[in-house]
Amino acid sequence: MPLSRYDICVLPGDGIGIEVVDATLPLLEHVTRGAGYELRFATHPAGALHYKATGDALPEATFTAARSAHAILFGAMGWPEIRRPDGTEIAPQLDLRFRLELYAGVRPARALPGIALPLADPRARDIDFVLVRESTEGLFASVGHGVVIDDREARDTMVITRKGSERVHEFAFHLAERRRARGRPGEVTCVDKANVFASMAFFRKVFDEVAARHPGVRARHRYVDATALDLVCRPWTFDVLVTENMFGDILSDLAAGLVGGMGMAPSADIGDEHALFQPCHGSAPDIAGHGKANPTAMILSAAMMLDWLSGRHGDPRLAQAARRIETAVDAVFASGRMLPIELGGRDGTAAIAAAVMGNL
Ligand code: ATP
Repeated sequence: MPLSRYDICVLPGDGIGIEVVDATLPLLEHVTRGAGYELRFATHPAGALHYKATGDALPEATFTAARSAHAILFGAMGWPEIRRPDGTEIAPQLDLRFRLELYAGVRPARALPGIALPLADPRARDIDFVLVRESTEGLFASVGHGVVIDDREARDTMVITRKGSERVHEFAFHLAERRRARGRPGEVTCVDKANVFASMAFFRKVFDEVAARHPGVRARHRYVDATALDLVCRPWTFDVLVTENMFGDILSDLAAGLVGGMGMAPSADIGDEHALFQPCHGSAPDIAGHGKANPTAMILSAAMMLDWLSGRHGDPRLAQAARRIETAVDAVFASGRMLPIELGGRDGTAAIAAAVMGNL
Protein backbone atom coordinates (compact mmCIF):
# COMPACT_ATOMS: atom_id res chain seq x y z
CA MET A 1 0.00 0.00 0.00
CA PRO A 2 1.47 3.38 -0.98
CA LEU A 3 1.91 5.73 2.00
CA SER A 4 1.60 9.49 2.23
CA ARG A 5 4.74 9.66 4.36
CA TYR A 6 7.91 7.57 4.46
CA ASP A 7 10.08 7.93 7.58
CA ILE A 8 13.78 7.83 6.83
CA CYS A 9 16.26 7.32 9.65
CA VAL A 10 19.43 9.21 8.68
CA LEU A 11 22.73 8.10 10.22
CA PRO A 12 25.49 10.31 8.77
CA GLY A 13 28.17 8.81 11.03
CA ASP A 14 31.78 9.90 10.68
CA GLY A 15 34.12 11.70 8.29
CA ILE A 16 32.96 11.96 4.70
CA GLY A 17 29.81 10.03 5.66
CA ILE A 18 28.46 13.32 7.04
CA GLU A 19 29.54 15.25 3.93
CA VAL A 20 28.00 12.90 1.37
CA VAL A 21 24.73 12.64 3.34
CA ASP A 22 24.54 16.45 3.51
CA ALA A 23 25.00 16.56 -0.26
CA THR A 24 22.31 13.94 -0.90
CA LEU A 25 19.36 14.99 1.29
CA PRO A 26 18.52 18.13 -0.77
CA LEU A 27 18.38 15.96 -3.91
CA LEU A 28 15.91 13.60 -2.26
CA GLU A 29 13.86 16.56 -1.07
CA HIS A 30 13.88 17.98 -4.57
CA VAL A 31 12.72 14.83 -6.41
CA THR A 32 9.93 14.15 -3.94
CA ARG A 33 8.62 17.73 -3.70
CA GLY A 34 5.05 17.96 -5.00
CA ALA A 35 5.01 14.21 -5.69
CA GLY A 36 2.03 13.55 -3.42
CA TYR A 37 4.03 11.93 -0.63
CA GLU A 38 6.63 13.07 1.85
CA LEU A 39 10.00 11.71 2.88
CA ARG A 40 10.46 12.65 6.53
CA PHE A 41 14.11 12.60 7.59
CA ALA A 42 15.21 12.19 11.21
CA THR A 43 18.96 12.32 11.88
CA HIS A 44 20.43 10.29 14.74
CA PRO A 45 23.88 9.99 16.29
CA ALA A 46 26.11 6.91 16.00
CA GLY A 47 29.67 6.12 14.97
CA ALA A 48 33.26 6.32 16.13
CA LEU A 49 33.27 9.98 17.12
CA HIS A 50 30.07 9.44 19.07
CA TYR A 51 31.76 6.50 20.79
CA LYS A 52 34.70 8.69 21.69
CA ALA A 53 32.42 11.34 23.16
CA THR A 54 29.97 9.07 24.99
CA GLY A 55 31.39 5.53 25.13
CA ASP A 56 28.46 4.32 23.01
CA ALA A 57 28.84 3.73 19.25
CA LEU A 58 25.18 2.92 18.59
CA PRO A 59 22.85 4.39 21.24
CA GLU A 60 19.76 2.31 21.89
CA ALA A 61 17.57 5.31 20.93
CA THR A 62 19.30 5.40 17.53
CA PHE A 63 18.83 1.67 17.07
CA THR A 64 15.13 1.95 17.96
CA ALA A 65 14.70 4.82 15.49
CA ALA A 66 16.43 2.78 12.77
CA ARG A 67 14.22 -0.22 13.48
CA SER A 68 11.01 1.75 13.36
CA ALA A 69 11.80 3.81 10.23
CA HIS A 70 10.67 2.73 6.75
CA ALA A 71 14.31 2.84 5.59
CA ILE A 72 17.76 3.81 6.85
CA LEU A 73 20.11 6.15 5.01
CA PHE A 74 23.65 5.67 6.26
CA GLY A 75 26.82 7.69 5.53
CA ALA A 76 29.90 5.94 6.87
CA MET A 77 31.16 4.98 10.31
CA GLY A 78 34.57 4.24 11.78
CA TRP A 79 37.81 6.05 12.48
CA PRO A 80 41.16 4.24 12.53
CA GLU A 81 42.47 5.85 15.74
CA ILE A 82 39.26 5.34 17.68
CA ARG A 83 39.10 1.75 18.81
CA ARG A 84 37.60 -0.42 21.49
CA PRO A 85 39.86 -1.58 24.32
CA ASP A 86 40.45 -4.91 22.44
CA GLY A 87 41.82 -3.00 19.43
CA THR A 88 38.88 -3.53 17.09
CA GLU A 89 37.43 -0.62 15.11
CA ILE A 90 34.03 0.89 15.81
CA ALA A 91 31.59 -0.53 13.26
CA PRO A 92 27.93 0.02 14.21
CA GLN A 93 27.04 -0.95 10.64
CA LEU A 94 27.86 -4.55 11.58
CA ASP A 95 25.59 -4.36 14.65
CA LEU A 96 22.78 -3.01 12.47
CA ARG A 97 23.29 -5.80 9.94
CA PHE A 98 23.14 -8.49 12.59
CA ARG A 99 20.40 -7.02 14.77
CA LEU A 100 18.07 -6.03 11.90
CA GLU A 101 18.93 -9.21 9.95
CA LEU A 102 20.03 -7.28 6.87
CA TYR A 103 21.23 -10.46 5.23
CA ALA A 104 21.62 -9.37 1.61
CA GLY A 105 24.48 -6.96 0.92
CA VAL A 106 23.60 -5.64 -2.53
CA ARG A 107 26.55 -4.13 -4.43
CA PRO A 108 25.69 -3.07 -7.98
CA ALA A 109 28.59 -2.41 -10.35
CA ARG A 110 27.56 -0.43 -13.42
CA ALA A 111 29.88 1.55 -15.67
CA LEU A 112 28.58 5.12 -15.72
CA PRO A 113 28.77 6.89 -19.08
CA GLY A 114 31.71 9.25 -19.37
CA ILE A 115 33.70 7.85 -16.45
CA ALA A 116 37.14 6.53 -17.38
CA LEU A 117 37.43 2.90 -16.35
CA PRO A 118 40.59 1.11 -15.22
CA LEU A 119 40.10 -1.68 -17.82
CA ALA A 120 41.24 -0.79 -21.33
CA ASP A 121 38.95 -3.35 -23.03
CA PRO A 122 36.02 -1.41 -24.59
CA ARG A 123 33.61 -4.10 -23.37
CA ALA A 124 34.20 -2.72 -19.84
CA ARG A 125 31.55 -0.11 -20.81
CA ASP A 126 29.03 -2.97 -20.61
CA ILE A 127 29.79 -3.82 -16.97
CA ASP A 128 26.44 -4.16 -15.25
CA PHE A 129 26.30 -6.77 -12.52
CA VAL A 130 25.16 -7.04 -8.91
CA LEU A 131 27.17 -8.77 -6.24
CA VAL A 132 25.01 -10.09 -3.41
CA ARG A 133 27.01 -10.59 -0.25
CA GLU A 134 25.58 -12.68 2.57
CA SER A 135 25.87 -10.25 5.49
CA THR A 136 24.89 -11.92 8.76
CA GLU A 137 27.13 -14.98 9.05
CA GLY A 138 30.03 -16.59 7.16
CA LEU A 139 33.41 -15.59 8.57
CA PHE A 140 31.86 -12.47 10.09
CA ALA A 141 29.89 -14.71 12.48
CA SER A 142 33.17 -14.72 14.35
CA VAL A 143 33.22 -10.96 14.95
CA GLY A 144 33.56 -10.56 18.71
CA HIS A 145 34.07 -14.30 19.17
CA GLY A 146 37.56 -14.84 17.76
CA VAL A 147 40.02 -16.33 20.24
CA VAL A 148 43.75 -16.12 20.74
CA ILE A 149 45.06 -19.11 22.66
CA ASP A 150 48.17 -18.53 24.82
CA ASP A 151 49.67 -16.19 22.25
CA ARG A 152 50.28 -19.35 20.17
CA GLU A 153 47.31 -19.52 17.87
CA ALA A 154 44.23 -17.55 16.83
CA ARG A 155 40.89 -18.83 15.59
CA ASP A 156 37.91 -17.34 13.79
CA THR A 157 35.14 -19.69 12.74
CA MET A 158 33.13 -19.59 9.49
CA VAL A 159 29.43 -20.28 10.05
CA ILE A 160 27.11 -21.17 7.16
CA THR A 161 23.51 -22.03 8.05
CA ARG A 162 20.71 -23.34 5.89
CA LYS A 163 18.49 -20.41 6.88
CA GLY A 164 21.19 -17.83 6.15
CA SER A 165 22.10 -19.37 2.81
CA GLU A 166 18.58 -20.07 1.63
CA ARG A 167 17.36 -16.52 2.14
CA VAL A 168 20.33 -14.89 0.43
CA HIS A 169 20.14 -17.30 -2.54
CA GLU A 170 16.40 -16.65 -2.83
CA PHE A 171 17.15 -12.94 -2.81
CA ALA A 172 19.70 -13.36 -5.62
CA PHE A 173 17.30 -15.37 -7.79
CA HIS A 174 14.47 -12.87 -7.29
CA LEU A 175 16.85 -10.08 -8.20
CA ALA A 176 17.92 -11.92 -11.38
CA GLU A 177 14.26 -12.41 -12.30
CA ARG A 178 13.58 -8.69 -11.88
CA ARG A 179 16.67 -7.81 -13.92
CA ARG A 180 15.68 -10.27 -16.66
CA ALA A 181 12.35 -8.47 -16.91
CA ARG A 182 14.40 -5.35 -17.69
CA GLY A 183 16.41 -7.07 -20.44
CA ARG A 184 19.37 -8.49 -18.50
CA PRO A 185 20.38 -12.16 -19.02
CA GLY A 186 18.81 -13.56 -15.84
CA GLU A 187 21.69 -15.55 -14.42
CA VAL A 188 23.03 -16.15 -10.91
CA THR A 189 26.60 -17.27 -10.20
CA CYS A 190 27.29 -18.89 -6.83
CA VAL A 191 30.80 -17.85 -5.78
CA ASP A 192 32.33 -20.24 -3.26
CA LYS A 193 35.22 -22.52 -2.37
CA ALA A 194 33.20 -25.71 -2.43
CA ASN A 195 36.21 -27.75 -3.52
CA VAL A 196 37.98 -27.16 -0.20
CA PHE A 197 35.64 -26.32 2.66
CA ALA A 198 32.64 -28.23 4.02
CA SER A 199 30.98 -24.91 4.85
CA MET A 200 31.31 -23.78 1.24
CA ALA A 201 30.10 -27.09 -0.17
CA PHE A 202 27.02 -26.65 2.01
CA PHE A 203 26.55 -23.07 0.75
CA ARG A 204 26.60 -24.45 -2.82
CA LYS A 205 24.25 -27.36 -1.99
CA VAL A 206 21.63 -24.94 -0.66
CA PHE A 207 22.21 -22.75 -3.74
CA ASP A 208 21.42 -25.71 -6.01
CA GLU A 209 18.22 -26.43 -4.08
CA VAL A 210 17.10 -22.81 -4.42
CA ALA A 211 18.11 -22.76 -8.11
CA ALA A 212 15.78 -25.73 -8.76
CA ARG A 213 12.89 -23.53 -7.61
CA HIS A 214 13.79 -20.87 -10.22
CA PRO A 215 14.00 -22.71 -13.54
CA GLY A 216 13.74 -19.46 -15.51
CA VAL A 217 17.08 -18.23 -14.20
CA ARG A 218 20.36 -19.79 -15.27
CA ALA A 219 22.42 -20.99 -12.28
CA ARG A 220 26.22 -21.20 -12.45
CA HIS A 221 29.02 -22.02 -9.99
CA ARG A 222 32.43 -20.42 -9.82
CA TYR A 223 35.23 -20.74 -7.27
CA VAL A 224 36.12 -17.48 -5.60
CA ASP A 225 39.71 -17.44 -6.89
CA ALA A 226 38.57 -17.95 -10.49
CA THR A 227 35.92 -15.28 -9.96
CA ALA A 228 38.61 -12.77 -8.94
CA LEU A 229 40.31 -13.47 -12.27
CA ASP A 230 37.07 -13.27 -14.27
CA LEU A 231 36.06 -10.01 -12.60
CA VAL A 232 39.24 -8.46 -13.95
CA CYS A 233 39.36 -10.22 -17.35
CA ARG A 234 35.65 -10.34 -18.31
CA PRO A 235 33.43 -8.61 -15.74
CA TRP A 236 30.86 -7.80 -18.46
CA THR A 237 29.87 -11.50 -18.53
CA PHE A 238 28.31 -11.42 -15.03
CA ASP A 239 24.71 -10.67 -14.13
CA VAL A 240 24.07 -11.52 -10.45
CA LEU A 241 26.66 -13.11 -8.15
CA VAL A 242 25.94 -14.44 -4.67
CA THR A 243 28.63 -15.21 -2.14
CA GLU A 244 29.72 -15.64 1.47
CA ASN A 245 30.25 -12.58 3.68
CA MET A 246 34.08 -12.36 3.67
CA PHE A 247 34.43 -13.23 -0.03
CA GLY A 248 31.78 -10.59 -0.71
CA ASP A 249 33.64 -8.04 1.38
CA ILE A 250 36.73 -8.45 -0.79
CA LEU A 251 35.05 -8.84 -4.19
CA SER A 252 32.77 -5.84 -3.64
CA ASP A 253 35.80 -3.54 -3.36
CA LEU A 254 37.17 -5.10 -6.55
CA ALA A 255 33.80 -4.48 -8.19
CA ALA A 256 33.86 -0.84 -7.05
CA GLY A 257 37.32 -0.46 -8.54
CA LEU A 258 36.11 -1.76 -11.91
CA VAL A 259 33.60 1.08 -12.24
CA GLY A 260 35.82 3.91 -11.07
CA GLY A 261 36.40 3.64 -7.36
CA MET A 262 34.73 3.73 -3.97
CA GLY A 263 33.02 7.05 -4.54
CA MET A 264 31.12 5.59 -7.50
CA ALA A 265 29.84 2.42 -5.79
CA PRO A 266 26.42 2.41 -4.09
CA SER A 267 25.16 -0.37 -1.86
CA ALA A 268 22.23 -1.62 0.16
CA ASP A 269 21.88 -4.01 3.09
CA ILE A 270 18.49 -5.58 2.80
CA GLY A 271 16.49 -7.92 5.03
CA ASP A 272 12.90 -9.10 5.08
CA GLU A 273 11.70 -6.23 7.29
CA HIS A 274 14.37 -3.53 7.15
CA ALA A 275 16.88 -2.05 4.73
CA LEU A 276 19.87 0.26 4.99
CA PHE A 277 21.42 2.19 2.11
CA GLN A 278 25.01 3.39 2.16
CA PRO A 279 27.93 4.03 -0.16
CA CYS A 280 30.50 1.21 -0.36
CA HIS A 281 33.21 3.49 1.00
CA GLY A 282 34.13 4.22 4.61
CA SER A 283 34.68 7.50 6.44
CA ALA A 284 37.93 8.28 4.52
CA PRO A 285 39.72 10.24 7.28
CA ASP A 286 42.45 11.29 4.81
CA ILE A 287 40.08 13.51 2.84
CA ALA A 288 37.40 14.24 5.46
CA GLY A 289 36.66 17.91 6.07
CA HIS A 290 38.08 19.11 2.75
CA GLY A 291 34.98 18.85 0.56
CA LYS A 292 36.82 16.42 -1.72
CA ALA A 293 34.58 13.37 -1.29
CA ASN A 294 32.73 12.09 -4.32
CA PRO A 295 29.03 11.95 -3.29
CA THR A 296 27.97 9.81 -6.29
CA ALA A 297 27.94 6.51 -4.37
CA MET A 298 25.75 8.04 -1.67
CA ILE A 299 23.40 9.64 -4.22
CA LEU A 300 23.00 6.33 -6.08
CA SER A 301 22.45 4.53 -2.76
CA ALA A 302 19.62 6.99 -2.05
CA ALA A 303 18.13 6.07 -5.44
CA MET A 304 18.35 2.39 -4.45
CA MET A 305 16.45 3.30 -1.28
CA LEU A 306 13.63 4.87 -3.29
CA ASP A 307 13.53 1.80 -5.54
CA TRP A 308 13.32 -0.56 -2.58
CA LEU A 309 10.59 1.50 -0.88
CA SER A 310 8.71 1.54 -4.18
CA GLY A 311 8.74 -2.26 -4.41
CA ARG A 312 7.94 -2.78 -0.75
CA HIS A 313 4.98 -0.39 -0.67
CA GLY A 314 3.76 -0.92 -4.24
CA ASP A 315 4.36 2.78 -4.90
CA PRO A 316 5.58 3.50 -8.45
CA ARG A 317 6.07 7.19 -7.57
CA LEU A 318 9.23 6.36 -5.66
CA ALA A 319 10.62 4.25 -8.49
CA GLN A 320 10.09 7.23 -10.81
CA ALA A 321 12.01 9.45 -8.38
CA ALA A 322 14.82 6.86 -8.29
CA ARG A 323 15.03 6.82 -12.10
CA ARG A 324 15.19 10.64 -12.14
CA ILE A 325 18.18 10.60 -9.81
CA GLU A 326 19.99 7.88 -11.77
CA THR A 327 19.34 9.62 -15.08
CA ALA A 328 20.61 12.93 -13.65
CA VAL A 329 23.81 11.26 -12.36
CA ASP A 330 24.39 9.60 -15.74
CA ALA A 331 23.85 12.92 -17.52
CA VAL A 332 26.33 14.73 -15.25
CA PHE A 333 29.17 12.36 -16.10
CA ALA A 334 28.17 11.67 -19.70
CA SER A 335 28.57 15.38 -20.40
CA GLY A 336 32.28 15.00 -19.63
CA ARG A 337 32.20 18.28 -17.72
CA MET A 338 32.51 16.72 -14.26
CA LEU A 339 35.43 14.67 -13.00
CA PRO A 340 35.61 13.78 -9.30
CA ILE A 341 38.83 14.60 -7.44
CA GLU A 342 38.96 10.87 -6.62
CA LEU A 343 39.48 10.18 -10.34
CA GLY A 344 42.08 12.87 -10.88
CA GLY A 345 39.63 15.69 -11.61
CA ARG A 346 38.83 18.91 -9.80
CA ASP A 347 35.21 18.40 -8.77
CA GLY A 348 34.45 17.95 -5.09
CA THR A 349 31.33 17.12 -3.13
CA ALA A 350 29.45 20.40 -3.61
CA ALA A 351 30.18 20.72 -7.33
CA ILE A 352 29.02 17.19 -8.13
CA ALA A 353 25.87 17.48 -6.00
CA ALA A 354 25.04 20.83 -7.63
CA ALA A 355 25.52 19.34 -11.10
CA VAL A 356 23.15 16.47 -10.26
CA MET A 357 20.61 18.95 -8.90
CA GLY A 358 20.92 20.94 -12.11
CA ASN A 359 19.99 17.83 -14.11
CA LEU A 360 16.99 16.82 -12.03
P1 ATP B 1 36.11 0.96 5.62
O1 ATP B 1 36.99 -0.06 6.22
O2 ATP B 1 35.27 1.72 6.62
O3 ATP B 1 35.31 0.48 4.42
P2 ATP B 1 38.39 1.85 4.23
O4 ATP B 1 39.52 1.85 5.16
O5 ATP B 1 38.21 0.72 3.28
O6 ATP B 1 37.05 2.08 5.05
P3 ATP B 1 37.50 4.08 2.78
O7 ATP B 1 37.13 5.10 3.77
O8 ATP B 1 36.42 3.34 2.10
O9 ATP B 1 38.55 3.14 3.45
O10 ATP B 1 38.36 4.75 1.65
C1 ATP B 1 39.63 4.35 1.21
C2 ATP B 1 40.21 5.55 0.48
O11 ATP B 1 39.51 5.77 -0.74
C3 ATP B 1 40.01 6.81 1.29
O12 ATP B 1 41.05 6.97 2.17
C4 ATP B 1 39.89 7.87 0.24
O13 ATP B 1 41.14 8.36 -0.11
C5 ATP B 1 39.26 7.14 -0.93
N1 ATP B 1 37.81 7.36 -0.96
C6 ATP B 1 36.85 6.60 -0.42
N2 ATP B 1 35.64 7.07 -0.64
C7 ATP B 1 35.81 8.19 -1.36
C8 ATP B 1 34.89 9.17 -1.91
N3 ATP B 1 33.57 9.08 -1.76
N4 ATP B 1 35.43 10.19 -2.59
C9 ATP B 1 36.75 10.29 -2.76
N5 ATP B 1 37.65 9.41 -2.28
C10 ATP B 1 37.19 8.38 -1.57
